[in-house]
Amino acid sequence: MPPGQGTTADSDVLVVGAGPAGLTTALQAHAHGATVRVVDRRANRARPSRAMMLHARALEGLRPLGVTDELLNRADTTPEARIHLGRHVVEARLGHADLPDTAFPHLTLVRQADVEDVLCLALQARGIHVDWGVEFHGFEREPALASTQSLVRAELHPAGGLGRNLAEHHVSRFLAGCDGQSSTVRGLTGAQWRGGPYGVEAVMADLELDGSLDEGLLHVAVGAAGLVFLFALGEGATWRMLATRPAAPAPGARFGQLGPPVSAEEVARLVGESGLGGSGLGAAVSEVRWSAQIPLQHRIASTFGASPVFLAGDSAHAHSPAGGQGMNNGILDALNLGWKLGFASSAGTPLPELLDSYGQERRLAARRVLALTHVIFFGEASPHPVARLVRSALPVFAPVLPLLLRQRWLTSKGIRLLAQPFVNYRGSAISRDRMPGAGGWPRPGERLPDGPASVGGRVARLHDLTAVPGIHLLFERDAAPGTLGAGPAFPAGPGSPLVHVHRLTSHPGRGVVAVRPDGYVGYRCGEADPGELGSWLRLVGAAD
Ligand SMILES: Cc1cc2nc3c(=O)[nH]c(=O)nc-3n(C[C@H](O)[C@H](O)[C@H](O)COP(=O)(O)OP(=O)(O)OC[C@H]3O[C@@H](n4cnc5c(N)ncnc54)[C@H](O)[C@@H]3O)c2cc1C
Repeated sequence: MPPGQGTTADSDVLVVGAGPAGLTTALQAHAHGATVRVVDRRANRARPSRAMMLHARALEGLRPLGVTDELLNRADTTPEARIHLGRHVVEARLGHADLPDTAFPHLTLVRQADVEDVLCLALQARGIHVDWGVEFHGFEREPALASTQSLVRAELHPAGGLGRNLAEHHVSRFLAGCDGQSSTVRGLTGAQWRGGPYGVEAVMADLELDGSLDEGLLHVAVGAAGLVFLFALGEGATWRMLATRPAAPAPGARFGQLGPPVSAEEVARLVGESGLGGSGLGAAVSEVRWSAQIPLQHRIASTFGASPVFLAGDSAHAHSPAGGQGMNNGILDALNLGWKLGFASSAGTPLPELLDSYGQERRLAARRVLALTHVIFFGEASPHPVARLVRSALPVFAPVLPLLLRQRWLTSKGIRLLAQPFVNYRGSAISRDRMPGAGGWPRPGERLPDGPASVGGRVARLHDLTAVPGIHLLFERDAAPGTLGAGPAFPAGPGSPLVHVHRLTSHPGRGVVAVRPDGYVGYRCGEADPGELGSWLRLVGAAD
């Protein structure tokens, strides 16, 4: 191309990686106006699951994309756990928590393979098919025709080193690197990968057990060396085991990825040493159908990217499996990034504050989640003498644990903690508060909790109202009716499929609350003002 001539984009967003983060980024960006292409170096979608849990916040964020019903169909939403402490067995019910501010008041056990399948099917239903067997190798920026923003020219190859002469170039306005812990995109952005490896690694196995272990339940065995989880979610076998052991680096094993198998004897040793064999249930491994060792690390990228190249999911942060946060956190990144890329793709002007807010918001959130998983993992799996001592002492408390676990508030608090209630975007450049000190609504940057509301005489839940893609403007009962008619033009405003207006007859007052597509409040005011509201909508690309 001759210098200065510029070019046009093949798609608005190129997503590299079709794991949970990439698939969600694609769905969310498409739902908010972008054209999308997704590539993945794998030959097809099939791979054993790593994640087994989805938390309420991720389900809430996915709901407007129309995938939660199918996810819940494939999930166990009333899980029961048996915690094995030496000879004691303690029951815990993890469905029906006391959490009135969410539509998903339960722990949700679901295989990562099902999550990916549901997301893939949703993309297909929108005419987007993942390009499997396509590997991303690099990118360069180039000027765009009729725009001051640069485009991204990505170099794509058939995967596996085949057909290097078949390289293809794809030009997009934005590039989303959702390519996992060994991210090629991250390497090319120059972001540092801060943190380090864990001294223990995960072992997963699908297996059959002899003995009288209750089927269909989650079993957690607390041994001095670490916790062993048995999920009734095996793929091709009854049980999926997740355990840890001192790291034993193997050739070809990559952090966070399913590595080489471990021996059947080693799997049997891990189950045996957890105490399950001697718990009176006589649980002993009779068959191992599949296994993998997985090196673990705790890391965070020094930046989550800057327009036009962004990182999301494991390419931006790497967790231990403790608390089941990695996939959830990647989905939350994607829900945050996707709508911003969608709006930025359709806006006539660059939206620097909106695009910069992705990294500001999600990097801080990831640091907090990383800290949480670090602490839980220390308790679950650390070989440190203090952690071992605490685990060895737990059976002493077995008689009082049932009393504690029967307290619904305690399990509810635990389930809520896993849904990351500590994440907020209050300090974000796109959080605007014109009602400081006023109560009743969350502050901008905080999640909108679910709750009852009436709209035009109809009783609804707030999260039912916001369960379609776009920005939701919640007008209090007496807010000036002309607020949206006067002031700026709203090309994406009332009448547009991406800005929805709800007048809440149940909520007296004259204010307005704007809810972002990822479920966080972006703006609130005590007295509806068309100028201010218009300026916030322009800031996020929903108005010209
Ligand atoms: C033992 C274990 C248990 C876990 N349990 C849970 C849990 O219960 N809950 C939870 O939330 N999380 C859990 N996790 C974490 C979760 O599995 C990951 O966080 C999640 O898979 C990350 O999703 P992702 O889309 O960011 O990356 P990935 O799933 O790693 O997907 C990245 C994709 O990018 C593709 N790719 C890579 N490079 C390229 C390239 N150059 N070109 C094209 N494609 C490329 C890969 O093929 C891959 O498909 C667990 C992890 C482990 C190890």
